[in-house]
Amino acid sequence: MFELLKTDSSSRARLGRLHTTRGVIDTPVFMPVGTQGSVKALDPRELREMGTQIILGNTYHLHIRPGMDIINAAGGLHRFINWPHPILTDSGGFQVFSLAKIRKIKPHGVEFRSHLDGSLLFLGPKEAMAIQRALGSDIAMVFDDCPPHTAGPRELRGAVDRTLLWAKECREQPRASGQLVFGIVQGGADASLREACARELVAMDFDGYAIGGVSVGEPEPELMKAVETTEPFLPAHKARYAMGLGTPAQLVELVARGVDMFDCVLPTRVARNGTAFTTRGAVSVKAGFNKADFRPIEEGCECYACKNFTRAYLRHLLNVNEILGLRMVSVHNSHMYLKLMADIRGAIATGTFAEFRREFVANFVPSRKILTAREESR
Ligand SMILES: [Zn+2]
Repeated sequence: MFELLKTDSSSRARLGRLHTTRGVIDTPVFMPVGTQGSVKALDPRELREMGTQIILGNTYHLHIRPGMDIINAAGGLHRFINWPHPILTDSGGFQVFSLAKIRKIKPHGVEFRSHLDGSLLFLGPKEAMAIQRALGSDIAMVFDDCPPHTAGPRELRGAVDRTLLWAKECREQPRASGQLVFGIVQGGADASLREACARELVAMDFDGYAIGGVSVGEPEPELMKAVETTEPFLPAHKARYAMGLGTPAQLVELVARGVDMFDCVLPTRVARNGTAFTTRGAVSVKAGFNKADFRPIEEGCECYACKNFTRAYLRHLLNVNEILGLRMVSVHNSHMYLKLMADIRGAIATGTFAEFRREFVANFVPSRKILTAREESR
């Protein structure tokens, strides 16, 4: 399923190919997030034109609205949203533990109230796999217990125990035809817990492994450490996925630590606040200094927004709340992330990743605002 084509000599970066029933995915890969069955403000044609190989859908949200009756009647998620290419579905664990009002954690799942209308719902390994089977995703994620960044040692251990128990249950559930299932490593900032969790999951032989419990508000050094302490225990011949990350510079650093797959709401989320990502960092398109700036968001960018519109015009659109403004910044930001991954793949292939990494990270200046937005992500 996962072909390891090359490992970088200067870091743990890898070039690979993940085979799914709906197509081959070149890794490292960025997966735009379509939480509600749509990548916010972008349509499938635009996504393909900018090089999207796979998108993410969300079990929790889609299960609540429009509900599985509608998606089943439509013939599955791919048909419902008109995206015939690979889709990865999140199991809903993250949302149950972050969005919903939990009533009770039970041996086989969680009883919670919908964040929308307060109705009583239950989601566990069995339910999460059944929903993902019906959605028909190409990659399904196990239902895990994702504790907050502030969890104490006892809570962390409990979350790991439950994650392992639930992973085993997920592993035994029937799948959609050709569906891959990934395990999720938890353990917070505790290196020995992460190691134990990774070892047990690897013994269960999943198709790939995610590093979970990151992007939950922890400081960056802790996030990097969580990845560094997990990665050595994951098999080289399976894909590794860091969930919910990150800024462009963080993606480069995580690739260097051996991660193959990423998803993040940042490119579309900050676009809606009028912020654009460039190779030099984040810029506010809305800011006054762009009032009469007739250059594109980023010189040399090949995206539709940069080839056709100026900062001055986009700033005007954002200021008068024209939909085109936030759509175009979303186009640019998503394109920027996808192009970054393509450049990373090129650099690993040609043996120039070390230089690429050094230059990119030196040039990229993240703003405090962006890092705060990441903490609120998903
Ligand atoms: Zn652009």
